[in-house]
Amino acid sequence: MITSAIQKLTKILAEEQKQGCQDRVVIGGLDKLLRRWVEETKQAAENEAEHRLVDEIKTTLHDYASKADAERRTAIEVALKRLREFSPVTKPGEPTPAPVPSQPKEPAFTLDSPVTSIRGVSTAYARRLARLGVRTVGDLVYLFPRRYDDFSALKTIAQLRYGEEATIIATIWEVQNRESRRGQVITKALVSDGTATMQVTWFNQPYLAQRLQPGRQIVLSGKVEAYLGRLTMSSPAWEPLERELIHTARLVPVYPLTEGIGARWLRRLIKSLIDLWAPHLRDPLPEELRRKYDLISLPTAMSQIHFPDNRQMLEAARRRLCFDEFLLIQLGVLRQRWEWQQWPGRPLTIDHDLIHAFVSSLPYVLTNAQQRALEEILADLAKAKPMSRLLQGDVGSGKTVVATAALLNAVANGAQAAIMAPTEILAEQHYQTISALLEAAADCAARQGRTFPRPVIRLLIGSLSQGEKETLHRNIAAGEVDIVIGTHALIQESVVFKDLALAVIDEQHRFGVNQRAALRSKGYSPHVLVMTATPIPRTLALTIYGDLDLSVIDEMPPGRQRIETRWLSALERERAYNFVRAQVEQGRQAFIICPLVEESEKIEARAATAEYERLQSEIFPDLKLGLLHGRMKGEEKEAIMNAFRRGEYHILVSTAVVEVGIDVPNATVMLVEGANRFGLAQLHQFRGRVGRGEYPSYCLLLADTPSLEGEQRLRIIEETDDGFKLAEEDLKMRGPGEFFGTRQAGLPDLKVARLSDVHVLETARTAAKEIFERDPTLSLPEYQALAQQVAEFWQTKGDLS
Ligand code: ADP
Ligand code: MG
Repeated sequence: MITSAIQKLTKILAEEQKQGCQDRVVIGGLDKLLRRWVEETKQAAENEAEHRLVDEIKTTLHDYASKADAERRTAIEVALKRLREFSPVTKPGEPTPAPVPSQPKEPAFTLDSPVTSIRGVSTAYARRLARLGVRTVGDLVYLFPRRYDDFSALKTIAQLRYGEEATIIATIWEVQNRESRRGQVITKALVSDGTATMQVTWFNQPYLAQRLQPGRQIVLSGKVEAYLGRLTMSSPAWEPLERELIHTARLVPVYPLTEGIGARWLRRLIKSLIDLWAPHLRDPLPEELRRKYDLISLPTAMSQIHFPDNRQMLEAARRRLCFDEFLLIQLGVLRQRWEWQQWPGRPLTIDHDLIHAFVSSLPYVLTNAQQRALEEILADLAKAKPMSRLLQGDVGSGKTVVATAALLNAVANGAQAAIMAPTEILAEQHYQTISALLEAAADCAARQGRTFPRPVIRLLIGSLSQGEKETLHRNIAAGEVDIVIGTHALIQESVVFKDLALAVIDEQHRFGVNQRAALRSKGYSPHVLVMTATPIPRTLALTIYGDLDLSVIDEMPPGRQRIETRWLSALERERAYNFVRAQVEQGRQAFIICPLVEESEKIEARAATAEYERLQSEIFPDLKLGLLHGRMKGEEKEAIMNAFRRGEYHILVSTAVVEVGIDVPNATVMLVEGANRFGLAQLHQFRGRVGRGEYPSYCLLLADTPSLEGEQRLRIIEETDDGFKLAEEDLKMRGPGEFFGTRQAGLPDLKVARLSDVHVLETARTAAKEIFERDPTLSLPEYQALAQQVAEFWQTKGDLS
């Protein structure tokens, strides 16, 4: 029982309040007393509610001595309120009353109030904060630190070791900007801390030269790399040194900054807000759930993520907030699936003889994995619930033929089917492949005197003439076309199907949620099969695409040629070019991928253009080179890829946009510049662009001074062909959100969670399932707060309509 401890503290705080919050009530100050009180009371605490109270008091009054007067008064008031309200009769297991219902007297604004309602935030500051995406008080409370400076782990330059992450304090000696051959601005600074000097480099941030004045002391944090045998840091995080923090704190939060916002100012502001708000935040997770999954309360998590007491508390806070984000994702996708399946679908009869005839007409035998996937799909088609399935299989694993069998079955039921590809080239490719497969099967059946449908197959793409399109639309609406193959013009335009039973969506990143919504809005509820070659580890797939059932083709057709993969150092670039030339002389073609430029697509396009010009004029003046980058229009890209496919270019210089599956059987070399900057999964996708024909093919990875980790990644890809294995490795090794951007996957932004937090992810998935099974619509009173959060979380994407 902590009743007496509560009474004792209440008395002291009341006295402090009476004396005008001068911190004179106890000798040595409130901070000291509070530390002791927290320690003792924590030991005496018997249940979660008591622990939480102690945590809240601690957070509220934290660092009392350095608070401004107004802050002190508020803090005392809040703490007293909590202490007086606390009812010690709460038994373990019994939910505690929600901490301080809705309107606390102080603060006089809500989380939705604009930042200007905080005293000390002028409209000028509000404008600057807006650049950080901060508009409301709540945005500030949820502006999490980018990192924490652990000043106890500070190193000197002389102590640095290659490959480690480190923080140093150093004085700037010299700074200068210069322009690289590719038009990038490089800022180089020479810094010293008395033990040694070090070069530090930043790219395309010319203003840094002004800000990093010689003589200034700064804190630098980043990975130690080597250049020409000397240690260096490339684009480290930095900020001006603040001595007082080093003396008062061990883990210092570092917030994103912008012009005109000082680190200290922002840290103070957030500190006072957190102290004020954290105790009032309503915890969306019912007590029982928190206990079950061993999660700290939201108020504690929020204050600890900003101002952690130590590494353990920071980890607990991260875990809690990360759990919340994953839980919200899960509840969202489960809800999507549930809604999709509320509509009755159209059960199809499975014509096993027909499927068998089709499969045996193929010039090869299906792999076991293809067989299994096909059976799973057919079983879904027979159900009255609309199918919602993801078919995942590495590049070349043979997804098309599986999809074709499903299309055939739909047609055999007298219904229509459609397949949608992301580009016109891919749509055409599918059109040719699928027509050929079905024609061959029909011919084969005819020879054996069996009946076999000869479906009418049409290609619907943007480049058809208006007249052609209109005719096609009419034919589709009349049911005169059985299989429509196209780009997403197929659902966006005024296409009306007579009887659409199956829609296949190929190579989409966000997997059809929008497309399904579009179909639904036309009143269809077809079976949907989404295909992707992006190998995603299973846990992750289940999380992100939890609204889809999963089939995996995890086996390659036999006899696939292995693509010889070589990692070359930058010094071997000449050799790589010679190799490309030799292949071209044998009549083959090559891709050259330009390095990833993180800043923007525009800068990347510029860099790619420069590289293309250099290659064309200096290295391959006698060859024809094409250029492809993300700033080009869709048609322009298509035209270039088509020209490359027709053999009009020897070499295609491209940014990462070439990643998505186009077939150029004559291309045999994939040369990737700056390979260390790409993830394994992505390198694997590049590699899949070659080896599509009969010729032996090669993947050359050029990397300038990769980090240790980069080196390890390149070794793995040299040795491994298995896309799933590579994806697992990638996930293990890469940092926050790098696996692929969450935006790309169509998820709401994750603030804390990383997709590599696999354990938390699985826990959250289990929890979500339990909640969902109990209450799919989250209508129970204990889920009200949670329901609201799910809605808000998904709101920005508009996916849950
Ligand atoms: P992806 O899964 O990348 O879409 P595709 O469907 O384009 O792969 O198949 C790649 C190639 O493999 C095609 O040329 C196809 O004819 C061939 N293929 C598919 N299945 C098999 C199999 N079981 N055995 C041999 N070759 C196959
Ligand atoms: Mg394919």
